[in-house]
Amino acid sequence: MLARTLAFLALSATAFCQRIPYAGETPEWYQPFPGFRIVGNLYYVGTYDLSSYLITTPQGHILINTGMPDSVAMIRANIESLGFKLSDIKVLTATHSHADHVAGMAEIKRLTNAKMYMLDADTDAVEGGGNIDYRYPNGRGQVYTPVKVDQRVKDGDKITFGGVELTAHSNPGHTKGATSFTMNIAEAGKTYRVGIVNMGSINPGVKVSGMPAYPGIREAYARTFHDQSEMQIDIWLASHAAQFNLHSKYKPGDPYDPNRFVDSDGFHAAVKRLEATYHEHLEAEQKGN
Ligand SMILES: [Zn+2]
Repeated sequence: MLARTLAFLALSATAFCQRIPYAGETPEWYQPFPGFRIVGNLYYVGTYDLSSYLITTPQGHILINTGMPDSVAMIRANIESLGFKLSDIKVLTATHSHADHVAGMAEIKRLTNAKMYMLDADTDAVEGGGNIDYRYPNGRGQVYTPVKVDQRVKDGDKITFGGVELTAHSNPGHTKGATSFTMNIAEAGKTYRVGIVNMGSINPGVKVSGMPAYPGIREAYARTFHDQSEMQIDIWLASHAAQFNLHSKYKPGDPYDPNRFVDSDGFHAAVKRLEATYHEHLEAEQKGN
């Protein structure tokens, strides 16, 4: 009996480790979605909702975001279906340190030996496996496999690789080191300014008026909304597919057309909506709700 109980406990522990329950997760995180070309050398290789972006170059590739551990096999399949190799990835980075964007990173780094770039302010979180962030200043235990960051990045720094110049923009609030990336991509005589934007959404348990481990959170969010309202982009992409309405803009099998993602107005409207939500939170917090 004891042996059976122990065996059951061991099995449960294995299942738990393989699939860490994570706040806010939805079935769409784990749903496969076929990879496709967005514009030029930029491809969507993520799951139905967890965006991962592959930027290909003759010297190897850049991958932004890796989703949950379950996402790795889907990302690999997507990359291969587009005619590229996972092992050619040389540069890794992410829009922020939450599990839904970096929990597959350690595995992909192990498979590729790529160099990991991360905004300075989210580096400790990534290297600690999400143990500590401003919601959990005393730690909550690792929620994903820690990733060694090879290069800390600051606001405005450029990640240059294989002729690609990716500018990192500090957009704090959602995490201290939340990051948007911009780059120019020329295609068919046009140059598109592409933004992979970390939108300023607010997670459960966050008080935007101030957190003990993030006293400047109010100003951080305000600065992000201001900076994003001034950000000039043509093609709008984000950390989650739902945030930039991917599924209303593109269905699997649709022909290649970068213009379907040109949505500067949609981007600025989304920033305004998130800013309004932030003000609602501020008001409610000030009323003591
Ligand atoms: Zn997040």
